[in-house]
Amino acid sequence: MFHVKQSEKATPNTFGIDTPLAREIADLSARRKALEAVSLEFTGDTRILTVSNQKGGVGKTTTAVNISSALAGLGARVLVIDLDPQGNASTALGVPHNAETPSIYDVLIGDVPLSDIVQQSPEDENLFCAPSTIHLAGAEIELVSQVAREHRLRRALLELLDETPFDYVVIDCPPSLGLLTINAFTAASEVFIPIQCEYYALEGLSQLLGSIQMIQKHLNPDLHLSTILLTMFDGRTRLAHQVAEEVREHFPTQVLETVIPRSVRVSEAPSFGQTVIAYDGQSAGAIAYREAAVEIASRATQSKEK
Ligand code: ATP
Ligand code: MG
Repeated sequence: MFHVKQSEKATPNTFGIDTPLAREIADLSARRKALEAVSLEFTGDTRILTVSNQKGGVGKTTTAVNISSALAGLGARVLVIDLDPQGNASTALGVPHNAETPSIYDVLIGDVPLSDIVQQSPEDENLFCAPSTIHLAGAEIELVSQVAREHRLRRALLELLDETPFDYVVIDCPPSLGLLTINAFTAASEVFIPIQCEYYALEGLSQLLGSIQMIQKHLNPDLHLSTILLTMFDGRTRLAHQVAEEVREHFPTQVLETVIPRSVRVSEAPSFGQTVIAYDGQSAGAIAYREAAVEIASRATQSKEK
């Protein structure tokens, strides 16, 4: 099975120079090579993941778009649903999402079919996005009076998947547990939580887990927490290692081996309307997201058995 552990120290480079930087470069180059050798088959079954955490700024959108782009690069057909009025996922995927763009708002509130609003990302022919616009900001309130308000995304998505197959649907949630997130939880079967490696990482997590249980009980028995990804990891701090250790102790099966390092390239990419996979696919952040995508894809059978 493919995987190169980031913690495994690579051998010093060919010039025999053994410094931390030389090791890091050698390590990255070994991981790049391993990624090039990866070949995966997609079975045509659709996995629907919702990237959620009610905490703001933990890397939900960054994770949603980069994992999606990496999966598309591996040959999967991927749809990203931008369910956040901020529209950050739409921006990162380079799809127009101004006030006039038909968007996920029209699907949830106006009964417009999802297929009418989906756009192809210029980044990859396998990568698609259902954009969000500023109108979505009002949807939380407008949904309250709608029929089947918790199921509107699920219905629209099932209709789309009937006509157009996707291997992955990845939903980017806003940082709240309101009706938009509930729609995502009802439409998905897997919850994917990015956790920032910082002091408050686990705070609020029990509330999120409680919400997942409630949805499981009342709205969607298939929903389960399948994946946790540690993001913005700064290996130089003891705190980051402590947080990572604690999260792994609590969730031994869900936490991916791969951790996403804090990286300037990752944070720069959206300002070019790109994911880091397109912006600088060989950078440390992109390599980590590509490895995480391989891990997720190779866990498909495991998740189905649950
Ligand atoms: P929100 O709750 O507002 O939707 P979010 O959870 O979606 O936020 P992001 O927007 O993905 O979080 O990330 C928050 C900020 O951190 C962004 O500016 C992003 O570019 C930056 N960021 C995310 N991941 C990394 C990383 N690995 N290295 C450096 N910066 C990062
Ligand atoms: Mg976001």
